[in-house]
Amino acid sequence: MSSLPAWAEIPDHATLVSWLREEDPARLEDLWAAADGQRRLHVGEEVHRRGLIEISNHCLRRCAYCGIRAGNAEVVRYRMESHEILACARQAKAFGYGTVVLQAGEDPAHGTQSIAELVRAIAGETGLAITLSLGERPRSDYETWRRAGADRYLLRLETTDAALFARIHPGHPGREPRLVLLGYLRELGYEVGSGVMIGIPGQSHASLARDLELFRELDLDMIGVGPFIPHPMTPLGVDGHPDFPAAPPGEQVPNTELMTYKTVALTRLVRPDANIPSTTALATLNTEQGRELGLMRGANIVMPNLTPVAYRALYEIYPGKACISESAAQCSLCLEGRIHAIGRVPGTGPGWRPGHPPAPRE
Ligand code: SAH
Repeated sequence: MSSLPAWAEIPDHATLVSWLREEDPARLEDLWAAADGQRRLHVGEEVHRRGLIEISNHCLRRCAYCGIRAGNAEVVRYRMESHEILACARQAKAFGYGTVVLQAGEDPAHGTQSIAELVRAIAGETGLAITLSLGERPRSDYETWRRAGADRYLLRLETTDAALFARIHPGHPGREPRLVLLGYLRELGYEVGSGVMIGIPGQSHASLARDLELFRELDLDMIGVGPFIPHPMTPLGVDGHPDFPAAPPGEQVPNTELMTYKTVALTRLVRPDANIPSTTALATLNTEQGRELGLMRGANIVMPNLTPVAYRALYEIYPGKACISESAAQCSLCLEGRIHAIGRVPGTGPGWRPGHPPAPRE
């Protein structure tokens, strides 16, 4: 294996921006090779599968990009029962996944104790690692869930640009409180995941480069980056909406497949041992090859969907989501095939960030 070029070791702001602007396929081969090399060296050939269960699409937030935001009256709302969620977790175990991810809108009906009981039941019965992605909650909730057996928490920043964050999160107190929550999660011994969307109207190359620099500063365990996909029932889905102007000419990050690969690859370079998914949003832009190309350009994680098909279509955070009608078993087989086809191996075990086993629970 060729050694890592000097520019790829700790890419500085200017290097990040210039790669984000790079369009020449021949030059980009160098970026893909550097990212793939770092991936192999730091997290190896295993592709860990995190089984995703979308447990509720109720939400009290009004995120301007998200299809299940409060106020979208078109959405038929659902909340899975505990026994249904447990049945999905059992499937995850049967398929050989090491982790289940419980994700939802910010659903006020998810009581602290009911989630804790659910976590305890899944941990007790399956022994799987448990990731939660339930949005912003008081520190005490995160603490209760950690004690109950939750291992990881995903909370994306969406963008680290304070002004853009405020614009796309109307009524939200801003970026700083979210950074505070990420700090709490770290203190409580969770593996912490965050990330951003790529190509939000108003997001410049410099802003996306700063996102990447913050990933390094925050020492994140998991980093998910995916393209912003406009949803027609949201303010950001309206073309040319006056509240969401594009960045100045030449500055706007496009929400394309290529820009996503560049961001995945640069994420691997700034955080070489992080767990990085090849996201469903990327697969939505290229159903044939998106996941594989993500895995070949820095990613090492996939998130097969376990949500029962009847609910899955209702968890429409963006339209045209890949794998919307496949059963959990079909998703499992399909992803396993894709992993083998690119010469990698399905991961076994929980797939912690290498060298950083999670802190013991109290
Ligand atoms: N309520 C939880 C889970 C949100 S859904 C939370 O707020 O953390 C998970 C992720 O989907 C979001 O963090 C966001 O990055 C992504 N997402 C939502 N709408 C999207 C869109 N229109 N295009 C692309 N990604 C989107």
